[in-house]
Order: sequence, then C-alpha cells, then structure tokens
Amino acid sequence: MTRRAVFLDRDGVLNQEVGYIHEVTDLNLIAGVAQAVKQLNQAGLFCCLVSNQSGPARGYYPASHVNALHDRLCQLLAAETGAHLDALYYCPYLSAPEGGTEPAYTRWSTWRKPNTGMLVAAAWAHDLDLNRSFMVGDKATDVDMAHNAGCSGILVQTGFGDRILSGRYQHQTKPDFIARDLLNAADWILQQIDVI
Ligand SMILES: [Mg+2]
Repeated sequence: MTRRAVFLDRDGVLNQEVGYIHEVTDLNLIAGVAQAVKQLNQAGLFCCLVSNQSGPARGYYPASHVNALHDRLCQLLAAETGAHLDALYYCPYLSAPEGGTEPAYTRWSTWRKPNTGMLVAAAWAHDLDLNRSFMVGDKATDVDMAHNAGCSGILVQTGFGDRILSGRYQHQTKPDFIARDLLNAADWILQQIDVI
C-alpha cells in the first residue's frame, strides 16, 4: 500500500538558516524540530529530506561535506528525541547560468527545486502517494515544487519564510498552510491525516 510522506526542506526548516555551512558544527536544529519529526515518525508518516545544495556545483565544498552535514543532522535529531529521517535526497547540481562552476555538478537537473525530480524519485523508491503527501519549506520554490508534484505545500515562517510572506524574497506563493515553525506544521499535518 502506498504511504503518505512528509517531505522536509533542510535549511530554515530543520536547521537554522545560516547560508552555506562550511563547518559541520555550524549546523544546528531550530527549536522544536526534533519533537516535530518524532511526532511525524510516530504517526507512521514517511519523513524525507529534500534539499537543494548547490555548494558542490559552486565549488564551495565536495559532496562528501554535504553528507557529513546530513550525518550531523541525523545525529542531532536522534540525540534530542530519537527522531529519524526515513530518506535524504539533495540536489548538488546547478546550471552554469545560475552559478555552477564545478564541471561534475554543473548542469540543469530535474532534481533542482522547483522541479519535482527528488519527490518523484522518492515516490518510486519508497512507494509514496504524492497526492496525499505534504511538503514543508521556507521558500516559495518549496511550495511551487509541492504543487508541481500534487502535494500539499506548507510554508514555515522560520528561515526565509517571513521574507517570502512580506514580499522581500523570491515571489508570492499560495501555500496550503502557513505555519509558525515545523512543530506547528506537524500539528496541522496530523490534523489533516485524520480527515483525508
Ligand atoms: Mg530552506
């Protein structure tokens, strides 16, 4: 039977938005996030990271550094509440016009948000029902990706979320729900799955 998923953006949703993270120890969780992921785990929802990480394409650091950041992210979640992510997807690619310089990672990719490649790949690999799934992000491109794939799109006010809502960053978007933070988003998701 296909499962519902909650897709989670990384920076500004799970961990504090501090730009490109060059030091692994500079990745730190937003308050309440470990509790929120634990609640989603306990509800049987498939929790899946989906993140644009153009650092490798820009030549800032190798892809192995992104994996080290994700190891720390998972360790912090486990240490705080025993929460876990069921899968982690990220897009290291960036086209040259957008700033890609490292040949191995410089290309257009269906995986780069707001394209739906990461969601489609996860759905195939893990038998997920995108129409009954949720995407939580802090940018308009996260909400756009959700809607492009038929998911519900939730915008959190952490990270860039407040700047999206005030029109100071990216473009206007129409999320299905605006949440204060991931904990508030998880509450709303858990209400939805009771009724749909
Ligand atoms: Mg983000």
